[in-house]
Amino acid sequence: MIPVTKPFLPPQADYQGYLDGIWNRNWLTNNGPLVNELELRLKEYLGVNHLLYVSNGTMALQIAIKALDLKGEIITTPFSYVATTSSIVWEGCKPIYVDIIPGKFTIDPTKIEEAITPETSAILATHVYGIPCDVEEIERIAKKHNLKVIYDAAHAFGVKIKGRSIFEYGDISTCSFHATKIFHTIEGGGVFTKDPELLKKMSFLRNFGHDGFDKFNGLGINGKNSEFHAAMGLAILPYLESILAKRKEQFVFYKNLLQKLSVEFSNIEKIESYNYSYFPIVFQSEGILLKSKQLLDENGIACRRYFYPGLNTLDYTSGDCPVSDAISTRVLCLPLYHILSKEEQQMIARFLLRVQNYNNDKSNLELAETRNS
Ligand SMILES: *Cc1c(COP(=O)(O)O)cnc(C)c1O
Repeated sequence: MIPVTKPFLPPQADYQGYLDGIWNRNWLTNNGPLVNELELRLKEYLGVNHLLYVSNGTMALQIAIKALDLKGEIITTPFSYVATTSSIVWEGCKPIYVDIIPGKFTIDPTKIEEAITPETSAILATHVYGIPCDVEEIERIAKKHNLKVIYDAAHAFGVKIKGRSIFEYGDISTCSFHATKIFHTIEGGGVFTKDPELLKKMSFLRNFGHDGFDKFNGLGINGKNSEFHAAMGLAILPYLESILAKRKEQFVFYKNLLQKLSVEFSNIEKIESYNYSYFPIVFQSEGILLKSKQLLDENGIACRRYFYPGLNTLDYTSGDCPVSDAISTRVLCLPLYHILSKEEQQMIARFLLRVQNYNNDKSNLELAETRNS
């Protein structure tokens, strides 16, 4: 059985070392020493000044929306994980979908301005598969219309733009450290901002609004994370470079194996520092996707339709997004994780090519039959 992803687990002894410390201190959660250490190490690793470790990537998004006091309409992408939309709705705002760029999977800035109304308060865009949004253009539009910008950077750990962490863009960026993500703490997430005041506000929001034991600074929520989760992150960090290097190798290997497959790959040539976190392929039709997925399923290989259905097709939604619709029905993410072997990748490629060749043979046959009749 080949899953679509497998969480990286550090050597058990590494994690045990952190557990010993937790047992000695008897300090399990509430801004403990391991949470602080993880925040510090992440700042060093990413080269950012301000981040908060929170309970998950969805909570990170909701805290970001709350911290910016967003109301009314939020312009967002239809091509993302459902949490991007659900966070907007849970914070009482309305998602307004703007289509994605053809040939790229991120929000199309040329279509943002026509979606702005007097009710618009922000843009919430996703660096989907770790592919950076057009951040400069989005920033220009946001400035011009006095809008806030949040990036859902759940896939973008380790990605850089112009030498800076992608988390430095937007008023706030959020990340997920869920077990399925490239860097994980089992469950977990982060909020990032360059604005120290905003960071302070989010730190209150993360902890019920507590300002000391008996005083409150606004009303917050429980967005804290535990020492056990932080320990997993700390135990994984030393392996991160090798995880990323391996991903790149596997990514390139897939691409070479699949040269003859009639699909579109993600366009990552222009990204200066990418994390190779997902391997999406866009088939020529949903029919071939379904046939391919079925053959892989039958052979114990799990692929996922990330991201299908398009978020604009869910309830409480508006917005016509033909480009996203056309991609979300035809895209499939192939298995990708640190211990996926070359042989397994070759097997996956063979199955995909087999479906295509079978289809071609069949249509050639049908063509020949029509000619002969
Ligand atoms: C995983 C993910 C989230 C949610 O993160 P959790 O940590 O699972 O809550 C949000 N947005 C995107 C794009 C994701 O992939």
